Amino acid sequence: MKIIMLGAPGAGKGTQADRIAAKHGIPHIATGDIFRSNIKEGTELGQQAKKYMDQGLLVPDEVTINMVLDRIQKDDCKDGYVLDGFPRTIPQAESLGKALQERGQKIDFALNVDVPDENIVKRMGGRRACINCGATYHTQFAPPKKDGICDKCGSELVLRDDDKPETVQKRLSVYHEQTKPLIGYYEQIGILATVDGTQEMDQVFNSIETILG
Ligand code: ADP
Ligand code: ADP
Ligand code: ZN
Repeated sequence: MKIIMLGAPGAGKGTQADRIAAKHGIPHIATGDIFRSNIKEGTELGQQAKKYMDQGLLVPDEVTINMVLDRIQKDDCKDGYVLDGFPRTIPQAESLGKALQERGQKIDFALNVDVPDENIVKRMGGRRACINCGATYHTQFAPPKKDGICDKCGSELVLRDDDKPETVQKRLSVYHEQTKPLIGYYEQIGILATVDGTQEMDQVFNSIETILG
């Protein structure tokens, strides 16, 4: 099964993609995570991406598209995957569609996790990420067992630089301009499904499972 997660920054794409991946035994591919691990390792890709991420802007399509098309060629992707954070622009969606078509493949579902902007700011302000493994928590809605410490690996939890309020506003406006048009794009293709992302995490997952069947 091949799934795309759509939704504003902080809508809960990563949270749900993790659960889908675990349940269906397919990899969770998050472009933001790939960029962040490249930044941590100091690769050229990381240095390139950081300039844009710090400003709340999208990393250029040519860099991002090649990275994802390489990743989904890997062996672990043969039974499907959940793409989280890609595509984020129409050209990214078109490149993905074309690459899959050439291999006789297609995306099964584009899941739109729908959360209004008002809720987003609160979600992002409380998000905490592990500096080591990238696991995500929320101070109010998904707190770790021990304050400021990752349940999974024991490392420190931090507020991502780009989750500070100024950058969140910028990312939201980038979302509305560049990413939201993908909802209409996938609706037209006939694979769009929208879930109410303001529900509790377990309920959002239930709604998704009903759609995936
Ligand atoms: P995205 O990948 O779309 O940016 P995340 O999955 O990282 O979103 O979620 C953003 C923040 O909101 C995290 O701190 C997460 O724990 C929290 N969160 C996710 N889903 C919900 C939900 N349904 N209700 C409340 N908080 C949520
Ligand atoms: P969120 O979880 O809030 O949705 P991500 O972790 O997915 O954020 O992305 C963080 C940043 O990484 C984005 O603001 C953007 O700069 C960059 N990025 C991630 N995915 C893409 C993409 N598909 N195209 C361009 N830039 C991307
Ligand atoms: Zn961790």
